[in-house]
Amino acid sequence: MTLKLSFLGGAGTVTGSKYLLDNGQHRLLIDCGLFQGFKALRLRNWDPAPFVPRDVAAVVLTHAHLDHSGYLPLLVKNGFRGPVLCTGGTADLCGILLPDSGHLQEQDADFANRHRFSKHNPALPLYTEDEARQSLDFLRPCVFGQSISLPGGAKLRFLRAGHILGAATALIEWDGTTVAFSGDIGRYDDPLMLDPVTPEHADYLLIESTYGDRRHNQADPEDVLAGIIGSTARKGGTVVIPAFAVGRAQSLLFHISRLKKAGRLPRLLPVFLDSPMAIDATDIFRRRGADHRLGQDQLSVLDGDIRYVRTSEESKALTANPIAKVIVSASGMATGGRVLHHLEHYAPNPKNSIVFAGFQAGGTRGAAMVAGADRIKMYGGYVPVRAKVHNLSMLSAHADQDELLRWAGGFTSAPRTAFIVHGEPPGADALRFTLKEQLHWNCVVPDHGQTVILS
Ligand SMILES: [Zn+2]
Repeated sequence: MTLKLSFLGGAGTVTGSKYLLDNGQHRLLIDCGLFQGFKALRLRNWDPAPFVPRDVAAVVLTHAHLDHSGYLPLLVKNGFRGPVLCTGGTADLCGILLPDSGHLQEQDADFANRHRFSKHNPALPLYTEDEARQSLDFLRPCVFGQSISLPGGAKLRFLRAGHILGAATALIEWDGTTVAFSGDIGRYDDPLMLDPVTPEHADYLLIESTYGDRRHNQADPEDVLAGIIGSTARKGGTVVIPAFAVGRAQSLLFHISRLKKAGRLPRLLPVFLDSPMAIDATDIFRRRGADHRLGQDQLSVLDGDIRYVRTSEESKALTANPIAKVIVSASGMATGGRVLHHLEHYAPNPKNSIVFAGFQAGGTRGAAMVAGADRIKMYGGYVPVRAKVHNLSMLSAHADQDELLRWAGGFTSAPRTAFIVHGEPPGADALRFTLKEQLHWNCVVPDHGQTVILS
């Protein structure tokens, strides 16, 4: 039987991951992500799907980040009724990320309607918090390494990808052809996450290329954080850290707690985690001890020193308080969430610092600030940026070019074709070139919407 693969997202961009495998009788959707960043990309979320949602037999999620899972509520809203296979950690995290995504979209639509700055009347959310909760009923948590039967006779296996809690590479064998979907590949020797595992063999591979053209700064992240936080605090300034609620927030707090314990940061410097979602994610870290490297004693360090901010009143009180402090808050690319009102308050003052800790997709406020923008648009107006902006790529949850090459080098034989996905054009093309030069692989950078025949 002929197997067709369509690239419906995550091609030419790091967001919107969606790959449709079709054997002529059944369709499987691997990842179901939201487009984020540039407006032209975000508008794609509103386009009708290029397939009938109820005709999809099953969805496979590699991990819970919204650019891989955030379209699921819309798929269910539009008629999809099959199982959603994912790891237990991914199911747990989707349980907090998807309702939050619906909530933020309702809030944005509401704000646009109240301030009348949307061109749409009325502005509508892509989906609501309730609709996101309904989509969670379709999640089917699976165990790493186990062979799972999918509709149409396909077999699925999840391998650890590091990256974030529960993240997996999905290996699908269907009608005699094996296709590996790398998902997002994590770091080797990360203090939090386990090393990514390479499949031994696949006929076809889809490999992410977020950092396909870059090497992470090799500096010790604790040295860099100690320098930035220490010098900002000495000036009486505040450090705002927009962080992905899942993984990066915990990793940052872990480093900051260690610095305080070692006396490299003032013990009394208050550190706030202002993200209910990140607080819930920290609980999931406690429950899922086998999915990461932190022991109970290290997790309890996070309890001792960090002040958790749950309500929005507490969050606003935090901004009103002029003392020097560190605020870790979502979202990581400053696309939404509570970090926006902290940026609105702290970005205009040069004594403050803003620290990004991961990839900033094109078109996001994070990418603009890292590139040196002197003002950013938010809430329908502009906020000047005079605070010092840093980007600590060494804290990224993504493999860099060397690590992607190390991961790819674990295959015992070359895939027939490696499709380079989940990268902006410079990253994807650099990885294509590197894999071809170093491993002599046949590599293709697919276009958005392209369909290829796998035989
Ligand atoms: Zn991810």
